[in-house]
Formats: sequence, C-alpha cells, structure tokens
Amino acid sequence: MEFQIALLRGDGIGPEITDSAVKVLESVGAQYGHCFRFHPYLIGGCAIDETGIPLPDETVNGCLASDSVLLGAVGGPKWDDLPGEQRPEKALLGIRSALGLYTNLRPAKLFPALKGASPLRADLVEQGFDIMIVRELTGGIYFGDRGMRTGKFGEEAFDTEAYSVFEIERIGRAAFEAAMKRSRRLVSVDKANVLETSRLWRKTIHRLAAEYPKVICSDMFVDNAAMQLVRNPRQFDVIVTSNMFGDILSDEASQITGSIGMLASASLGDTTRGMYEPIHGSAPDIAGQDIANPIATILSVAMMLRYAFGLTKEADRVEQAVDTVLANGCRTADLIGSTDAKPLRCSEMTAEILAALQSL
Ligand code: NAD
Repeated sequence: MEFQIALLRGDGIGPEITDSAVKVLESVGAQYGHCFRFHPYLIGGCAIDETGIPLPDETVNGCLASDSVLLGAVGGPKWDDLPGEQRPEKALLGIRSALGLYTNLRPAKLFPALKGASPLRADLVEQGFDIMIVRELTGGIYFGDRGMRTGKFGEEAFDTEAYSVFEIERIGRAAFEAAMKRSRRLVSVDKANVLETSRLWRKTIHRLAAEYPKVICSDMFVDNAAMQLVRNPRQFDVIVTSNMFGDILSDEASQITGSIGMLASASLGDTTRGMYEPIHGSAPDIAGQDIANPIATILSVAMMLRYAFGLTKEADRVEQAVDTVLANGCRTADLIGSTDAKPLRCSEMTAEILAALQSL
C-alpha cells in the first residue's frame, strides 16, 4: 500500500529526530511491502525565516492532502522575542485547529529496562506502569480570549478559559472509548473546586459515565493528580483532562518514565489522518549535536502505523525493536544521566533500532 505523509521537521532537534523516524518507516515499508512517501513542509521558526509566518498556507494544505502528518518540534531562542501571534509555537495551535485534532493521546509507559532511569524510588517502579493521558487539544485557555489591559494595579495581561459541553463530550467520549480498550479505569482530572469550566467538565463527564457502565470513572483535582503521579503511578490507567492540565501532567508523567525523550503522542480528530509527534520541544540546548533521543519520535510513528494506517503488526514490531535495544543496554545521554557509560548518539541509537527491526 502507498501512504502520503506530510513531514514537518521544524526547528532545533526536529530535523534529526524526524530523519530517524523516517528511516524507521522506510525500513518497515521495505519489510512489509508498503510505500511511505514523504512531503516536507515548513513549520515554526524555519517557516518564519523563509516566509515570514510560522504556518504557511502551503503547509496546512499539504497536511490536509496527506494521509498522515509527522511533526518534529518547533521553537527556539532565535524567535523568542517575537510577539505571541508571530511566534513558532503559534503554528502548533494553528495546525491542530486546521486539522480538527481535538484528542491528544499521550501514553506514558515505563519500559522494563528503564526502571533505573526513573527518578522514582525502586519500589514504586518495580512493577512498571502504563498510563494513557487523553488531553483535550483545541479548546481551553490556549485558545481563549487574551490580551493586555489596564487593571487595578496598572498594566496587566489576561488569558481566558472556555469549554463547551460539545468539546467536553467529544474528548470525554474518546477517553471512555480508550478506557474500554484497556483496563476500564478512567480518572477525570479537573479543578472543579475553583474553576467554572471544571465544574461543567465534571458534570458532563458524569453524564457520559452513565453511557459507559463498564468503566470505573472517578474525579481528581489537578493538584492532587500531580502529586499522585509521583506517589503511586500504577493507580492510573486512562486520564482525561483539559488542554493545559494535560500539557503539564504529561510532561511530569514523561519524566517518571526515564526521560522526556521517550514519550510519543498522537493527535486525532474525526478523520484517520492525525498528527504524530514527540511530546518534547525542540531542545535548542542540544540541537545539531546528534545527541538527542530519537525514541519518542520513533514511537510516534508506531502510533501512526497503528491509528492512521491500521498497520498493527508493523506498529508492534517498531515497539518491540525499541524494547529490544533498551533491554540490550543502548542508551542516549538523557537516559544514563551522570554514569560513566558512553551514551549513544542519535544516529547510533537509530542504527541500533533499525538493526533490531531487521533481526526480529
Ligand atoms: P524541551 O522539551 O525542548 O526541552 C526540555 C529539556 O529536555 C531540555 O533540557 C532538552 O535538552 C531535553 N530534551 C527534550 N527532548 C529531548 C530528546 N529527544 N532527547 C534528549 N533530551 C531532550 O522544552 P523547552 O526547553 O521548554 O522548550 C524548547 C523550545 O521548544 C521552546 O521554544 C518551546 O516553546 C518549544 N516547544 C515546542 C513543542 C512542540 O513543538 N510540540 C513542545 C514544547 C516546547
């Protein structure tokens, strides 16, 4: 089969890690007889440099015409002083909105070989954990009214959060469906003791829960959830939450799996297209040095194989290859911290995963 993939390399380590993931897809294609065609488009800072704007129409149209989208990361200090509307990160919100990607799946799984890389106590990670964070992606405070004004104390800035029943229902449904395919436990995270949007969130999730009697659904305040994630991550299976809470909690969840360089994500809407990207940013501090961990992006293309193309066997194989190299002791710098072991470079880790793919 032939699949058209819009390739948004972006900035910083974006080009290095997406190149690794492209090699993995090409290898899978060669083994299973699929043809993945890559169509590169500009996004973020590199788009600003070339065209003056972070999300050119050509990029949006290219993504809309593709079967799926692979994104590296955007942003960096070079563009940090631009006004908010013109910054690279604005392109992320724009492309999610243009493609209607309201569901962000962020699996946080501890690979058995990485127990030692987790900052949590050994007894907390001994049995591993496997959490699916379902984050709302096109609403809430990241998309609300914002601006500057004169307030009681002079100049002030404001951002507002709004959620409709429609938006909560559709992300809630995605989470209940995800829970039905897993262990049927769902925790809805909000701040209903303070925020009006959270009270509507909670009421709507409770109403939906009646449609999914097989799912054990409970509520948790976001501050408690942040604490419970490091106290006992195994208590969680599926977590559903708003855009900003999900952004923050998934970074926390990533760190307890060993490194932010391990976590993949899928952004989905009502079509099968979706956009697949690591949850980390463009890591300007290590860009261009060939030391980034490519695994989050490689696991993102495993999610693409599974969700966008329905290629389950192929997706499993990529995940097994990652499992194998980690079990063999392969580590990029972010995974070994300050030990004496020599870390693999990004290109070396990619080569190990490609070799594992061939030999499985
Ligand atoms: P970051 O995720 O880029 O980096 C945080 C830390 O994690 C850094 O020390 C970095 O070196 C490390 N890190 C991240 N990915 C890694 C990898 N694959 N391998 C090894 N180490 C890795 O977050 P930040 O520093 O807050 O942001 C940098 C830029 O990225 C900013 O401009 C920010 O706006 C942008 N950003 C973009 C996205 C995106 O494109 N989806 C997401 C978050 C941040």
